[in-house]
Amino acid sequence: MGFFASPAAGRLSQIKATPLCARDSTPMHAETLAPVAPALPFPKELLQRLDTTGPRYTSYPTADRFVEAFGPAEQLRALKARAEGAAVGGRPPLSVDVHIPCCESVCYYCACNKVVTRHHERAAEYLDALEKEMALYMQALGPREAASQLHLGGGTPTFLSDEELARLMKALREAFHFAPGAEMSIEVDPRTATPQRLAHLAALGFNRLSFGVQDFDEQVQKAVHRVQPYEQVLELIVSARALGYESINVDLIYGLPRQTPQSFERTIRQVSRLRPDRIALYAYAHLPQRFKPQRRIVSAELPDGAARIAMLDGAIRGFLDQGYCYIGMDHFALPGDPLAAAKRQGRLHRNFQGYSTQPDCDLVALGVSAIGRVGATYSQNAKTLDEYYDALRQGQLPTVRGLALTRDDIVRRAVIMALMCQGRLEFESIELAHLINVPEYFRRELEALKPLAAMGLLALEAGAVQLTPMGWYFVRAVAMVFDRYLQADQVRERFSRII
Ligand code: SF4
Repeated sequence: MGFFASPAAGRLSQIKATPLCARDSTPMHAETLAPVAPALPFPKELLQRLDTTGPRYTSYPTADRFVEAFGPAEQLRALKARAEGAAVGGRPPLSVDVHIPCCESVCYYCACNKVVTRHHERAAEYLDALEKEMALYMQALGPREAASQLHLGGGTPTFLSDEELARLMKALREAFHFAPGAEMSIEVDPRTATPQRLAHLAALGFNRLSFGVQDFDEQVQKAVHRVQPYEQVLELIVSARALGYESINVDLIYGLPRQTPQSFERTIRQVSRLRPDRIALYAYAHLPQRFKPQRRIVSAELPDGAARIAMLDGAIRGFLDQGYCYIGMDHFALPGDPLAAAKRQGRLHRNFQGYSTQPDCDLVALGVSAIGRVGATYSQNAKTLDEYYDALRQGQLPTVRGLALTRDDIVRRAVIMALMCQGRLEFESIELAHLINVPEYFRRELEALKPLAAMGLLALEAGAVQLTPMGWYFVRAVAMVFDRYLQADQVRERFSRII
């Protein structure tokens, strides 16, 4: 069956029955089992109506709400509270996130905080600073706190040489104790990796890889200045499997210049052949006024709204056809992947990396612009290297912004995460945990859900809000109803597109 159906309008009866994955317990409508002439899984009118921007809710409140009044002193207070919690046996697990900002060349779609340089000697100075930052965390938390997760992201972590990566891992292991079985993941730019490199990463303890692929079409790759042939990624994934990596993720982007539904279909077929355990599929947000590299993208080469919708639709259909489960938001996983199991069992969590099987962790975030979470606070490091280095030279944490959550923030975070992770908001569990009456507290929001219920995205039950299988695909639109900041401020340009 082809991934792309003729753009016939779908019907709600078909949508409600769209399975989330082969093992999903949702009963399948007879029409979805029909082997020929498949209709679109979503009505085009619905996709057009929901073609807007919104947060991805890797945190609530979202990072754009952080304030400068939250600085190093506030971050230290949060760390101290965690350390005191440890003394009485009460603290969440710890996760560590390291941001490596350097990239050798710029991808034109990039919206990340990075430094483009070919001067690899700059890495040594950055590692010095990271070690100083780790020392400050050790002072505040105590030496070698146990951590259950490590993530190296960027920028390009594989900008670092093998020796530099070994140095970084040694310092991290001296600062934190990574428990046996900890998830140790690293983002890999295929252009900076070889099978030997992957073997070195495995020897350093990494057990999860995430490859930035975006699109395999050569014309698209040229248009975004990121050329990496399919064969190169294939060789890396085959090597990673042979090396015993537990999980391989591939990132894709739709909405890029020169992409067409037909070209993206080819990419989806190629990615499916690679059989990554997880796939993240993001929508490109073209904001050249905010992100300088995007000014090099030729606007006339961008696909229009209808083509974007066809690409999203085709990708969802393609990955489901190929046996992947839809996890939520932008994520797919093979049925045997722990993420798919967690979805089936209602044990999904969400953090700054997206969906996770790990329970809510405190997150120590190291490096320039890194965002962390400790207790009921979020913090962000300085965004420029100069500022970041300056703070550490003075022996200070490089925190420049953050937020201490209010009670209302905490309640809304619980509601949004329940919707994003379980697809269900059980009033009773929120009422017991937060001592509120949900129908009273969220009177306006429950009213605002009614049009979404009429669109078939959710059911309003007596004591719960339940997403429909279709609603899972638009969970952001549902979560946004509970975002107090967003409701107060209708300027959403800073966010990525929902579809
Ligand atoms: S997309 Fe990634 S690799 Fe490309 S410039 Fe941005 S941070 Fe660097």
